[in-house]
Amino acid sequence: MKSAVFSVPGLRRLPWLRKDGTLHESRLTSLFSTAGVCLTFTALSTMPSVYIKTYGCQMNERDSEAVAAQLVAKGYTLAVSDRVADVVLLNTCSVRDMAEQKALNKMENLAAEMRRDRPEVVLGFLGCMAQSRGRGLIDRLPDVDLVLGTQKFHRTADYLDEILTGRRDKVVDVEEEKGSEATIKEHLLNGNAQTKSVTAFVSIMQGCNQYCTFCIVPYTRGMERSRTISDVVSECRELVSRGVKEITLLGQIVTSYGKREIGMKDGKSAFVQLLEAVHAIEGLERIRFTSPHPKGYGDDLVEAYGRLPKLCESAHLPVQSGSDRVLKLMHRGYTRERFLGIVEKLRRVKPEMGVTTDIIVGFPGETESDFAETLSLVREVAFDNAYCFKYSPRKDTPAAAMPDQVPQEVIEERHGRLLDLVNEVGKEKYRRCVGQRAQILVEGPSRKNGERFEGRTRANRIVVFEGNERHRGRLLDVKITRAGSFTLYGDPAIVNPD
Ligand code: SAM
Repeated sequence: MKSAVFSVPGLRRLPWLRKDGTLHESRLTSLFSTAGVCLTFTALSTMPSVYIKTYGCQMNERDSEAVAAQLVAKGYTLAVSDRVADVVLLNTCSVRDMAEQKALNKMENLAAEMRRDRPEVVLGFLGCMAQSRGRGLIDRLPDVDLVLGTQKFHRTADYLDEILTGRRDKVVDVEEEKGSEATIKEHLLNGNAQTKSVTAFVSIMQGCNQYCTFCIVPYTRGMERSRTISDVVSECRELVSRGVKEITLLGQIVTSYGKREIGMKDGKSAFVQLLEAVHAIEGLERIRFTSPHPKGYGDDLVEAYGRLPKLCESAHLPVQSGSDRVLKLMHRGYTRERFLGIVEKLRRVKPEMGVTTDIIVGFPGETESDFAETLSLVREVAFDNAYCFKYSPRKDTPAAAMPDQVPQEVIEERHGRLLDLVNEVGKEKYRRCVGQRAQILVEGPSRKNGERFEGRTRANRIVVFEGNERHRGRLLDVKITRAGSFTLYGDPAIVNPD
C-alpha cells in the first residue's frame, strides 16, 4: 500500500500519521487487515491509547490510576502493553537509585524501539524522578516528549493534547502548584459491576516535612499539603456508592495530615478527626491507612483503634533501624524504647494487631553492633513482615555526605541476614494463625493461583480459599487451615456458629 497524503488540520502525532502529514503504511495496513473494513479516520483519531508503567510506592500507583482515569474520561483507551500504545508514560520513583536506573533503562529501550518502528509515539516521564531531574531527562533522552513533576499529574491530558495536535513539541513542567494536593481524585475501579475492585486508595495529602537524612521525598514531593476533610469524605462516599468496601487513606506521612490546615480539636489530631468522618460513611466496611510515622501515634490515634470498629487492626510502622545511634543520625525523632512503647500500646488496645515495618540496612556509620540491635528489634516486636531496603545515597540528602559509608558487600551480607530473620519471624506469626477464625474481605481471584479466590484479614494477612465470583466483596468468616509464606489458606465452609 502506498502512503497517501491526508491533511488533517490540527493533528500531527497520531499513530497513523507521519510527522510530515502522510499516513504511516505499516500502521494503516494493520488497521485495514485486522479490522477487515475501512474504519473511518475520524473515529480512530479521537481514541489514542495510553500505557502507564509505574515504579515505586502505593502513592505512585494511585497517581497513575488517577492519570489513567483522567485520560479515559477524555476518550483515551488503555493499551495492554507499551508495544501497541500511542502514548507511553513512565511514572517514576526516586527513593532508591535502582528505581531511577530501571526507569531510565526502560525509556532508553523504548526510545530506541520507537525511533526505529513507530516514531510518532509520545513518550513521557511523570512523578518523582521527573520532578528531581526535570529538563535533564530530555537532554539525556531527546526522544522524550513530556516531563511532568509530582504537582502536575492532573495536567497530563492537556499537555498530551497539545503534543498530539502539534501545538507543542516538548513539555517540561515541574513547577509547584497551589491546590495540587486535591487533584488526585479520579478512580478506575477496573472491571464491570461484577468484577470491579472492592478496595480503593484515597490520597489525603501530598509532601513531607520530616527531612529524614536519607530521604529524597521532601525534595520530590514538596512540603506537606492536606486536602480538606469534606473533600476526602466526598471522594470516599462516591467510591462506596460504586461498590467499594475498604478504603486505604494514603500519604507520605498520613499521621501529619492537616497539622497546619486543620489542627487539634477536643484533644484529637486532624488525622483522627478525618478517620472519624470517613468512619461515619454508611456502607463502608473497613478503613486502613499508610504510611504513618511512628511519632504520629499519639494516644488519640491508639485509642481510635478501640473506638472505631471499621478501622482495621493493622499498622505499618516504618522503624528504619533498631539502634538509637542510627535513629538519631537518620533524624527519625524517636528512640527504640519509644517505638517499642507504641507497639505495646497498640497491642494493648488490639492484641491481634498486625504490625509491619520498613528497615534500611547499611545507613552510613551503621556498625555490626547497630545492625545487631535491628535484628533484636525484629525478634522483639515479631513483625508480621518487613520491607528491607539496602541504603541508597540520594542526591542532596545529608546522609549522602556523611562519613563512614558502608561498603556494598557489607550491605548485601546484612540485608541477606535480615531477610532470613524477617522470614523466620513472619513464618512463625503466620503458623500461629492456623486453627483460628478470621474475617476476610474477598477481593477477587488469587494473585498466586487464579483458580482460587483471596481476601485479607483485618490484620492485613492474605487468605486464599476455594471461592468464586459470588464471594467478591463479601465479608466472610474463614477457618485458617494452613500457613504458607506470608499467605494463609482458609475454609469458609467449616466455620459454623457455635
Ligand atoms: N512514611 C515513611 C517513613 O516513616 O519513613 C516513608 C515512606 S518512604 C517513601 C518508603 C521507604 O523507603 C522508607 O520507609 C525507607 O525505609 C525507604 N527509603 C527511603 N529512602 C531510602 C534510601 N535513601 N535508601 C534506602 N531506602 C530508603
